[in-house]
Amino acid sequence: MTETTLPEPVEGPATWRSDFRTAMMGSSPAPLTLLERGEGCYVWDVDGKKYLDFLAGIAVNSLGHAHPVLVDAVSRQVANIAHVSNYFATAPQIELAQRLSRISGAGERGRVYFGNSGAEAIEAAIKLARRNGQHKTILALTNSFHGRTMGAVSLTGKPALREPFDPAVTGIDHIDSTIEALEHAMGDHVSALVVEPIKGEAGVIDLPEGYLKRARELTEKHGALLILDEIQTGAGRTGSWFAFQQHGIVPDAIAVAKGIGGGVPIGALVTFGWASELFTVGQHGSTFGGNPLATAAANAVLGEIENAGLVENAARRGDELRAAITAIGSPLVGELRGAGLLIGVGLTEPVAARVSAKALELGLIINAPNDTSIRLAPPLIVGDAEIAQFISLFTQALEASA
Ligand SMILES: *Cc1c(COP(=O)(O)O)cnc(C)c1O
Repeated sequence: MTETTLPEPVEGPATWRSDFRTAMMGSSPAPLTLLERGEGCYVWDVDGKKYLDFLAGIAVNSLGHAHPVLVDAVSRQVANIAHVSNYFATAPQIELAQRLSRISGAGERGRVYFGNSGAEAIEAAIKLARRNGQHKTILALTNSFHGRTMGAVSLTGKPALREPFDPAVTGIDHIDSTIEALEHAMGDHVSALVVEPIKGEAGVIDLPEGYLKRARELTEKHGALLILDEIQTGAGRTGSWFAFQQHGIVPDAIAVAKGIGGGVPIGALVTFGWASELFTVGQHGSTFGGNPLATAAANAVLGEIENAGLVENAARRGDELRAAITAIGSPLVGELRGAGLLIGVGLTEPVAARVSAKALELGLIINAPNDTSIRLAPPLIVGDAEIAQFISLFTQALEASA
């Protein structure tokens, strides 16, 4: 037997960066800092530095950090029963399925599959599409993002993320995000169109005006499913429970994850109407999917969003933020995109990385999904004080980057 030398344990500020590098898979980018705890809209790093969190784990921490309602629900559930196999049902699981069908408008014909992540919700969506024509084509958009598993990355319209892992899942075509491209590509050979109502990872990019309406007409005409990836836009973030609800259409399925669990991993596919009949017993499943711990957490998060009026707060605070960002009057700020509390700030110069690095230095967490976009996705609980502080710090970050 040869002696194995174990690496030194993580010791905090001095060694965590190198410990991360030697312990974590090479696919992990270098972290910005080591976060230790959070409360409300704030997080603290290992040096005790406090940050205003306007990213919320990329639209995940809907209630902010350590919200008592979530802490209580998870604590009580884990002390009661945390997991059962799929041979059994639990009350939180059924309650969450009913809740998702209710708030999405899927209603009585709504059916819900639970997984543990966005990518798993998308995998379920791909399998649903196959059940609507196994040898038909799934349409997705260029520059879209749907996750990192093989199916999800095959659907993702960013070749750089997929190509190192080719061959991709076949039967998927990517089209430009224009109504003309959609009209050109749609036909009876299409099983499903999968789109994000707002492209988050692309830099919070809105679909063209009228896109979802036209997509609904064309998918209906050709018997194709309209599947919306609401993983980033869902759970009240855009000022409605789901972004599609602002477009006067009803989809056949929505993929949700991120903000639903408020930090506890969960993903789900919600089907509407006839799409609910496509899967038969045993065709899909997940060990952890829908377990009582994750579903109790999501019930608590969605319940609090409803009770505290946080969908309305997202709409109102989103408007306030947009107005305040415009009022900064920075020549670096161009168009404002997105809806509610999912905001894309288009920059007039390719300095997004500099702006977000400067913000971090000042104690503000924002994100630069590309050179000319800043993404904001604060917790849905933001109020006057956080918005005022954000504007002050963001103004300084912009000034330092001009
Ligand atoms: C984050 C995200 C995914 C992937 O979710 P994971 O939980 O990381 O697997 C898919 N689609 C969209 C729109 C996302 O924002």
